[in-house]
Amino acid sequence: MHPKTFDALFLGPEASLRDALALLDATAQGIVLVADAQRRLLRTITDGDLRRAALAGLPPTTALAALPAKAPLCAALDASMRDVLEMMDAQRIDHVPIVDAQQRAVDLVTRRELSQKIWLSSPHLGDDEAALVQEAFRSNWIAPLGPHVDAFEREVAAHVGVAHAAATSSGTAALHLGLRLLGVGPGDLVLCSSLTFVASANPIRQLGATPVFIDSEPLGWNMSPSALRRALRTLAAEGRRPKAAVVVNLYGLSADMQALVPMLEEAGVPMLEDAAESLGARYRDRASGSFGALAVFSFNGNKIITTSGGGMLVGNDAALIEHARRLSTQAREAARHYEHVEDGYNYRMSNVLAGIGRGQLRVLEQRVDARRAVFAHYRAALAGRTGLRWMAEPPGHRGTRWLSAFVLERPQPQRARDLLLDFLERHNVEARPVWKPMHLQPLYAGCRYFGHDDDVSASLFAGGVCLPSGSNLQPEQLERVGALLQRGLDVVEAQA
Ligand SMILES: *Cc1c(COP(=O)(O)O)cnc(C)c1O
Repeated sequence: MHPKTFDALFLGPEASLRDALALLDATAQGIVLVADAQRRLLRTITDGDLRRAALAGLPPTTALAALPAKAPLCAALDASMRDVLEMMDAQRIDHVPIVDAQQRAVDLVTRRELSQKIWLSSPHLGDDEAALVQEAFRSNWIAPLGPHVDAFEREVAAHVGVAHAAATSSGTAALHLGLRLLGVGPGDLVLCSSLTFVASANPIRQLGATPVFIDSEPLGWNMSPSALRRALRTLAAEGRRPKAAVVVNLYGLSADMQALVPMLEEAGVPMLEDAAESLGARYRDRASGSFGALAVFSFNGNKIITTSGGGMLVGNDAALIEHARRLSTQAREAARHYEHVEDGYNYRMSNVLAGIGRGQLRVLEQRVDARRAVFAHYRAALAGRTGLRWMAEPPGHRGTRWLSAFVLERPQPQRARDLLLDFLERHNVEARPVWKPMHLQPLYAGCRYFGHDDDVSASLFAGGVCLPSGSNLQPEQLERVGALLQRGLDVVEAQA
């Protein structure tokens, strides 16, 4: 509920039964919070309390303080949604006020909202997917490869403006193939954005190479050109040239390719563009995914469009993409029998799933518009609030806002972030911290890291929050999240 609605639920102990009845009617929330001037919760009043008072013959002018004492059923600020729900069931109540360490009521959870989960980013099917899958069934192409795969590859390549594409079983598989095709192998160094999902980095290690992590820049949160420059210079001075660079486009925003591409070209380091989160984004009139020697998309269930699971490796080099296709089908040579020279993988996309992907691609632009509208809603809802900074969309960019994200700028950002995430979780709203940077992961302890200036990615992790961002969020769900954010941030300001 909105802060104004929440504030309206309070009455002092001197108020009467009649006041409580009037307030229950006016607010229609089913509960009145009786509290002292510091908002310390004394008790709650529901319709049932008023009915019992009437049956006991108490006149409407009776002060609430004179009612039979009843300790308020409430929970603490660290209560989870599950705790609250268990309390509701055990006590047969529909509302649980949340109190802080001083017993002040700071929040109210209602049973109604707990029946309606709001997801971070859920699949959103269009009108054509079922028919395309049906077509795969009808023609009995229930196999990896098939006409939908071929068409999906052509359609994605055309959409991105690159010559070739190979559909894979996941974005991670495409990253693995891409690195191998760029020649990455044991003993190599590979540069990689630190602020990313672990799948950007894992294939580096799996190929026997060593990642070198690069910090973010503070505006768009993607790879910092100045940190990259220092890394390239430092490594060059040591006589080492990285074999490749995995440049991530975070949360639907392209990295600063105008700065990064020439730097990498000059150093002779090919770029593998991790565009898993940025399909549909543009940078200086080019599609995200068209900047690297190779680029990767993901169609995992939480991405802007999905095949339930899948990925794509794209690029302009026909030979590389042809090689990717061969490696992803067990590296079988052209022969009647099964002849193998290289070791390959089973990484191809199924024809059934490619049917879903073709339908999804037809609505991509609508999905981008819808996610951008979600972001605009949040920004308007929180306009004028201080202490938070949205992930920017610098000039020259058109991002997709795959996830709407901001960073809390406070003395103890991580505590504030966790309070806010706890608050949203308790109301059945899925929000997440920003990615934990790879250089802070135990898995990559000891790897080299080049910072921007301060450790930008570490502070984005400490205070960063990703909000529900699905293209299928309904206006009333957005209203609900916006109002919860207002109140959650109030709680953060009071407590953190
Ligand atoms: C989702 C994601 C991947 C992995 O894609 P999958 O299809 O889930 O394997 C890789 N990198 C980034 C940045 C991602 O967000």
